[in-house]
Amino acid sequence: MTGSSAGAARTPRAALAELLTGNRRFVSGQPVHGHDVTAAAAVASGDQQPYAVLLGCIDSRVPLEAIFDQTFGSICVIRTGAHVLDRAVCGSIEYVVGQLGVPLVMVLGHERCGAVASAVDTLRTGERPGGSLAYLVDQIAPAVTEVGADDPRAHPMAVRRHVLRTVATLRADDLLTGPVAEGRVDVVGAVYDLATGEVTLLDH
Ligand SMILES: [Zn+2]
Repeated sequence: MTGSSAGAARTPRAALAELLTGNRRFVSGQPVHGHDVTAAAAVASGDQQPYAVLLGCIDSRVPLEAIFDQTFGSICVIRTGAHVLDRAVCGSIEYVVGQLGVPLVMVLGHERCGAVASAVDTLRTGERPGGSLAYLVDQIAPAVTEVGADDPRAHPMAVRRHVLRTVATLRADDLLTGPVAEGRVDVVGAVYDLATGEVTLLDH
């Protein structure tokens, strides 16, 4: 394997460039790390020095380390249905930013997200799911309402709106808002296209 690039990207801009370059390697079918899922590679990672923390969906088609062609030790990954936040997620991000000095947080939504589809269905039918799935749907619902649940393109628009809402919530997080204001940390949103493998940044 090539030497780890972990630790090289200590600014938000450099970290973002590193991630997007990795995605381009993945899309082009020429990953550097994608094939190297070995114990030897894990051991070679040494101390943890990640440069980004990614919050994505649980969807089995969106493995974050793979689509950004990352290696052991380079990124921290948190996954929940439609990247819904709760205190454990926020605390984990605060830890990575505050304790590990990571300069970039990326929220990644994706096309054809089942959790977002559940929220669209709930708002269209009025039938709210039970259990903790209701929490998930409730957290996504405001994005669906904002784009209009009955709009034929409600799902793809809600995917993007929900990413931006999640970014805004994280930017306002007690322990992140200071570093973000100082420019030491950035929180960005992006969407993954299942059909092409491409990650596209969203303006915020
Ligand atoms: Zn999803």
